[in-house]
Amino acid sequence: TQLPGGPAFRNAQCFADRIAVRDNIASYTYANIFLSAHNLSKKITSLVNGRRNERILFLCPNDANYVITLWAIWMAGQIAVPLSPLHPKNILLYYANDTNSKLLITTSKYAELMQKVSKNTHSALYVLDDKLKLNCAQQPPLQSQSELEGGQPLDFYDNSNALILYTSGTTASPKGVVLTHKNIQSQVSTLLDAWKWTSNDVLLHTLPLHHVHGIVNALLCPLTVGAKTIMLKKFNANTVWSYLLGVSPVPDDRKITVYMAVPTIYSKLLDEYKKVFKDDPKMVDYIKNTLKNKIRLMISGSSPLPISTYEKWLEISGHRLLERYGMTETGMVLSNPYDSDREPGYVGIPLPGVSVRLAEEGETSEQLKTIVECVNDNGILVFNKYKDGSPKGELLVKSDGVFKEYYNRPDATFKEFTADGWFKTGDISEYSTEKKKFKILGRKDVDIIKSGGYKVSALEIETHLLAHPDIKECAVVGVNDEQWGQKVCAIVVPQEGKEVTLQTLVEWTEPKVPKYCLPTEIKVTNALPKNAMGKVSKKELVKLMF
Ligand code: ATP
Ligand code: MG
Repeated sequence: TQLPGGPAFRNAQCFADRIAVRDNIASYTYANIFLSAHNLSKKITSLVNGRRNERILFLCPNDANYVITLWAIWMAGQIAVPLSPLHPKNILLYYANDTNSKLLITTSKYAELMQKVSKNTHSALYVLDDKLKLNCAQQPPLQSQSELEGGQPLDFYDNSNALILYTSGTTASPKGVVLTHKNIQSQVSTLLDAWKWTSNDVLLHTLPLHHVHGIVNALLCPLTVGAKTIMLKKFNANTVWSYLLGVSPVPDDRKITVYMAVPTIYSKLLDEYKKVFKDDPKMVDYIKNTLKNKIRLMISGSSPLPISTYEKWLEISGHRLLERYGMTETGMVLSNPYDSDREPGYVGIPLPGVSVRLAEEGETSEQLKTIVECVNDNGILVFNKYKDGSPKGELLVKSDGVFKEYYNRPDATFKEFTADGWFKTGDISEYSTEKKKFKILGRKDVDIIKSGGYKVSALEIETHLLAHPDIKECAVVGVNDEQWGQKVCAIVVPQEGKEVTLQTLVEWTEPKVPKYCLPTEIKVTNALPKNAMGKVSKKELVKLMF
């Protein structure tokens, strides 16, 4: 089908009777969602007195209400700022103030909380009807295809802002990343091709919906091609297993073809597997066959996938997790291949249409020296610049998916781009000549530990430590030290019933890494604090533990 272009809701007319969303109460066709969103968009327009380009914050559970509201905001020509039920009140207030929002939308479940945000920020609050979902699912059949026309004129969506997403706040206070409709369409169409989406796909959605991974990769991709998204309110390992194995309560939902998640989720699924199935040989075979035959693609991203998780997952499911790298500001940048071999520990090559550079740090950002520059031309990497060996440097990105600006922060925006328009990710990457793939060594300011004149990649040490059978989780950090500048320290969560000491770490890593990379101090704990995306804030951790 030739799709009409513009935001995903415009494609609804091509898939009118197909199921767009399935949630805890019903299934909704594309026509259902479109019509409910269209009604709500009229309400929104009247609430903002006919203005467009207003920032509208919305807090909805992960169900049809979320999709209806997102589409309604875009139909009304407004900018969507998605909030998460996981955010505490002070963060919600921060977002509302930072975006100077005039209108908040939520469901009755969060009305009390949002009432407080509304009072504090002098923005109006609109609470969705409790029957919105039910009414959406029970609409009469379409009288004519023209009912599925709505929204702003197509050219409105050329350059207008669509979304403000806040970065995870792993390294600094969260900044609002402004994505235009064009940015999003570019990100989506790249992924639709690279990961071979079709309207027959069924995705199981268990990710937070205030983050590029959950919104663009896992929701807008299927909604753009007419595929079906099964939305679970939140991740639960047992429930997810029942969906993956096709024994979920609703027969219609037993055909998942795509699953994507963060590494922590895969490791929780592995824990559950161990607990429930491991000792039953019949189940072990059944699980491997079912997953291998039913599901065509399983993806991991948002933080580094430990090689041990990759290998254990392969062993139980027959699936080589496709690891990719991206960020809020850029959308997806690097991806392992769909068709050919995926390599654990590597994040692949640039997606089609994305140019990447590795740059050596200069004294000032204007002096950055490009050592690698390449694009993906139909699966083949074309280098405009290439330094021999396995070059390492800061990863820079240029593509139509790269965001427009940080909301209301012209200085921050200016600082993160080079004069010739490349976005500086702040991540250090290496191009392996042998594997012909990129690897992420970590964030310039927290994962690259500067010790005694050497640069140590915390992620590389973590990879080695996680391969130790007694280590469940770990974070390697640099702690300020008078003698060394920084020393390499490890915070370790041992496997149940196991003891891990500094000696364990040193004996294990000594044969694998140079001496200056060895941890010199260990803290043992029973869990690493993580945010909604499963990310560890190392800055916080160092403050807490050292
Ligand atoms: P903040 O910018 O507020 O500090 P954040 O950078 O964690 O937070 P995101 O945009 O959600 O916010 O995350 C992007 C970052 O996640 C990347 O810059 C990179 O450091 C990390 N990342 C994403 N995918 C991968 C991956 N596959 N391997 C390693 N790191 C990854
Ligand atoms: Mg970031």
